[in-house]
Amino acid sequence: MEVAKTIESVRRLVKAAHGKGKKIGLVPTMGALHVGHVSLIEEAIKTCDFVVVSIFVNPTQFSPGEDFEKYPRPLKADLEICKKAGVHVVFAPTPEQMYPGENLTWVDVEKITEPLCGRSRPGHFRGVATVCAKLFNIVTPDIAFFGQKDAQQAIIIRRMVADLNMPLEIIVCPTVREPDGLAVSSRNQYLNKQQRQDATYIYKSLIKCQEIVKAGKIDAREVIAEMQKVLQQKSSIEIEYISIVDSESLEAIDRITGKVLVAIAVKLGSARLIDNILIDTRK
Ligand code: AMP
Repeated sequence: MEVAKTIESVRRLVKAAHGKGKKIGLVPTMGALHVGHVSLIEEAIKTCDFVVVSIFVNPTQFSPGEDFEKYPRPLKADLEICKKAGVHVVFAPTPEQMYPGENLTWVDVEKITEPLCGRSRPGHFRGVATVCAKLFNIVTPDIAFFGQKDAQQAIIIRRMVADLNMPLEIIVCPTVREPDGLAVSSRNQYLNKQQRQDATYIYKSLIKCQEIVKAGKIDAREVIAEMQKVLQQKSSIEIEYISIVDSESLEAIDRITGKVLVAIAVKLGSARLIDNILIDTRK
């Protein structure tokens, strides 16, 4: 496995692989790798011949006051995980490599960046879309892999790729969960023991939603109220949003029919946690 710290070196490695007719897969991450990331890497290894994992805590997607400084950066452990998983190249640039001067060009995806996490994290998705566009231009993958865990992000990136005619495919992999249902996240490290236990109520509320929709309740407001009740059992959980939206436009819906995204964001201690499920009432 090669570790490329510069744009020039990753380009050279990918060019050589392309020259041999290899299909290039990219898994963009911020590091602190866990089984969720590994599931994306495994899918990439299965689907592609040459897999690049990028590890970059992207400063432009953090707002002032968020956890950019304290975000975990265990590079040595991350490299071990990548090596074991069969990754060909880890691209781990510095912020100076990715943003050598003042950045004047941004990718601003409209509308679908506004609801859900866009509301409380202004500029977040502009940073995400911009860094993904940069990574796609640097690595030139045939396929890039994202997690359903960050549902809005995956939808935005898909849309950016379509709208800007970027020549790659986006594959979205299912959310990997702990045995008790909590979505695996690098930010779970911020939780103390009690908060970690309380965090299981996030997925419990999503399961509750699934159950009551299956039982025939389709009024989104009523369903959200039921989910609220589940989360409110834990006073440590501060609800940022519970939203039921169209799974493509991300517009709020009144009646749950067809394919919908049920998404949650909460604050638990110093951690901001998100989770979601897709419900298809036609199935
Ligand atoms: P991050 O390092 O948090 O930026 O995540 C990098 C990629 O891993 C994103 O596409 C995430 O959606 C994905 N990811 C993070 N956690 C999970 C998980 N629990 N299951 C599946 N994918 C995940």
